[in-house]
Amino acid sequence: MIYGLDIGGTKIEIAVFDEQFVLAERWRVPTPTTDYVEFLDTVQAQIELADAKFGAKAPVGIALPGVVAAQGLVISSNVACLNQQQVGVDLTALLQRPVAIGNDCRLFVLSEALLGAGRGFSRVFGVILGTGAGGGLCVDGQIYQGRHQLAGELGHQSIAARVLMQYQLPLYRCGCGLDGCAETYISGTGLARLYSHFSQQDNTTYDWLQALRRAEPVAQHCFACYLDALGAALAAQVLAYDPDVLVIGGGLSDIDEIFQALPGAIGRHLFSGVTVPPVRRAEYGAASGERGAAILGARLAA
Ligand SMILES: [Zn+2]
Repeated sequence: MIYGLDIGGTKIEIAVFDEQFVLAERWRVPTPTTDYVEFLDTVQAQIELADAKFGAKAPVGIALPGVVAAQGLVISSNVACLNQQQVGVDLTALLQRPVAIGNDCRLFVLSEALLGAGRGFSRVFGVILGTGAGGGLCVDGQIYQGRHQLAGELGHQSIAARVLMQYQLPLYRCGCGLDGCAETYISGTGLARLYSHFSQQDNTTYDWLQALRRAEPVAQHCFACYLDALGAALAAQVLAYDPDVLVIGGGLSDIDEIFQALPGAIGRHLFSGVTVPPVRRAEYGAASGERGAAILGARLAA
């Protein structure tokens, strides 16, 4: 068996896989976000529970939000207690077995590239559009890490100036400390923010979708703006990485209106003669992070 954990801002998903990465069991517990010792204790308790259930001492892979920087230090995580901690080193000592850790978006891409919608393609760029927006590149089954494991952090690239100007958008402050990050427009939170901006009242993504399906003009205008912002952000990844396929996951990828409009939206931001790569929907949905983590854990153990 192999254990794959996905650490989220509110819950930890624990998944147990066999050697072919077929899911055997999956459960979740709340994430301790402020106390690091409590976080370590929680993970240890769940791993011991899995050991007892499956009569194994299996390798562990962990997907977490944030960047794993030099010396294994976690930075820029929205789970506050993980920042500036050597999470992988500490858990390896505590659990007395190989523990691999990686960024959740990059592990999502690894999972989809090897076993999901990116199967059969050499260069797979994946994007998660959920509460936040992030991505990663996988080349021939390996995550392209870059010097600081930053490759794929498209959420913190700036929104395209031509979109900002055309729709007269404000610059929003991002959680990372910068203004005008793409994430503040193209994530699920961003879409709700845009619709609230155009409708001049507090609205959710669900409100927007209902209004769009009633063909309300403000929702349609918001949709055009959102698609333009997202299309520009993804076109920038096409120009940076020139991938063979784009795999889109996260809650927004389930909205057909958005997913089906993506190739056209991306193409409008590419110069003449450049073709949009195939755009595929992620196959494993929410479980991709755990599966990617388990792949990393298995590779480390091997
Ligand atoms: Zn940012």
